[in-house]
Amino acid sequence: MKSYRKELWFNTPRRRDYINITPTVEQCLAESGIREGLVLVNAMHITASVFINDDESGLHHDFEAWLEKLAPEKPHSQYQHNGNEDNADAHLKRQVMGREVVAAVTDGKLDLGPWEQIFYGEFDGMRRKRVLVKIVGE
Ligand code: ZN
Repeated sequence: MKSYRKELWFNTPRRRDYINITPTVEQCLAESGIREGLVLVNAMHITASVFINDDESGLHHDFEAWLEKLAPEKPHSQYQHNGNEDNADAHLKRQVMGREVVAAVTDGKLDLGPWEQIFYGEFDGMRRKRVLVKIVGE
């Protein structure tokens, strides 16, 4: 069995952002040389997500509005977590959007559905953060 590991770094200019990382994951897969197996992509931080959905800007605005309804960023004082920090909302948003995705690798390609794209979801950005890509197979 072959195994491949890479860390991807992000530093978003905004507190919240969605980045399509599908091309980067495809590049990792090509580097790995793995033709059949599984790819795991996970945020290495507890205020960011990796998830699969549509690359459609209206939907990304909808995510933003929906998550702000569920866990509004402000006022910061509404959260017990916010003493030395102001990112309680980011922890909650990440919990809803998920930590990781696992995708099948078939014939050297990501075996995704027709509209499935892999995203990095940032909820407490403007600092350097990482995503782990792990690919196993043969
Ligand atoms: Zn925190």
